[in-house]
Amino acid sequence: MARVYNFSAGPAVLPEEVLKEAAEEMMDYKGSGMSVMEMSHRSKVYDNIIKEAEQDLRDLMNIPDNYKVLFLQGGASQFFAEVPMNMMKNKKAGYIVTGQWAKKAYQEAKIYGDAVELASSADKTFSYIPDCSDLPITDDMDYVYICENNTIYGTKYKELPNTKGKDLVADVSSCFLSEPVDVSKYAVIYGGVQKNVGPAGCVIAIIRDDLITDDVLEGTPTMLKWKTQADNDSLYNTPPCYTIYICGKVFKWLKKMGGLEKMKEINEKKAKILYDFLDESKLFKGTVEKKDRSLMNVPFVTGDENLDAKFVAEAKAAGFENLKGHRTVGGMRASIYNAMPIEGVEKLVEFMKKFEKENA
Ligand SMILES: *Cc1c(COP(=O)(O)O)cnc(C)c1O
Repeated sequence: MARVYNFSAGPAVLPEEVLKEAAEEMMDYKGSGMSVMEMSHRSKVYDNIIKEAEQDLRDLMNIPDNYKVLFLQGGASQFFAEVPMNMMKNKKAGYIVTGQWAKKAYQEAKIYGDAVELASSADKTFSYIPDCSDLPITDDMDYVYICENNTIYGTKYKELPNTKGKDLVADVSSCFLSEPVDVSKYAVIYGGVQKNVGPAGCVIAIIRDDLITDDVLEGTPTMLKWKTQADNDSLYNTPPCYTIYICGKVFKWLKKMGGLEKMKEINEKKAKILYDFLDESKLFKGTVEKKDRSLMNVPFVTGDENLDAKFVAEAKAAGFENLKGHRTVGGMRASIYNAMPIEGVEKLVEFMKKFEKENA
């Protein structure tokens, strides 16, 4: 068995311990005589799996009792529509556009109402987080929307925007469980799990319960109404059973690792190794403003497209996979999620040093 160092932005690396456990349970989950893939989502065994997953997530994130946890399908992209459908009572909301995912959410909201761009960092290819201390938020806005960690560009909010009392909705797909968060500061926190939590196929949404009502936009499909999902504990229809089971294992792994405080410490240490090298390198350069650097997604370039391509190819041959930047921005990107071991980053930096010498 040869595992590579997988720097994919998503679907992404998972903890080996989790994969091994899943393999052991593949044919017979805890004496049930079947795989979790084969069991009814209405069975007692599965009910324990989903309930335990929710409880472990609640413990990890200290989720207050007045927030519901939903396990949904459709990816983060479908949730872009669910936010306005469920929250646009006045049909008006503010969006901060810090990258492609924020922009897509903003464009989707425009289908349903008056989505207003409150700030944007498009002027400098989304290489920074705009000043959000005094945004043109108006009283009639139903919420303020952010993408908290910008997977493609590698920026992250280090401070939440001043929403002037409005509800904050955050897409945390690529920073989910990477550090502690104060859930009470948000109305809705959601993310696709395939970046930092589990396999593709599930969105986890943490929603303040007063937002879960029958008062949704006309024409909202039953499945996309949060109340439908909440009333049925995410079991209105067949949920992504196996994905939720793996997420549950990752939650247990995170607890064992010491929880989110500890993960933050590890993630900061891990990211620093790479950023410190980028800051001293004569060949490689980070592409975003230092103060806004993501702990999870680290884009960098050599400044020469051919050399970038050579680097990606040689890195792949040496066992470092998926370092090519997003197809829309080029260059390189190392996604160093929770499950990327620190040695992965150390070895990558060693390899980059060697490449720099050979190509000086
Ligand atoms: C990947 C990603 C998305 C899109 O996720 P899908 O599940 O593919 O729809 C949205 N937002 C962010 C921040 C992402 O990283």
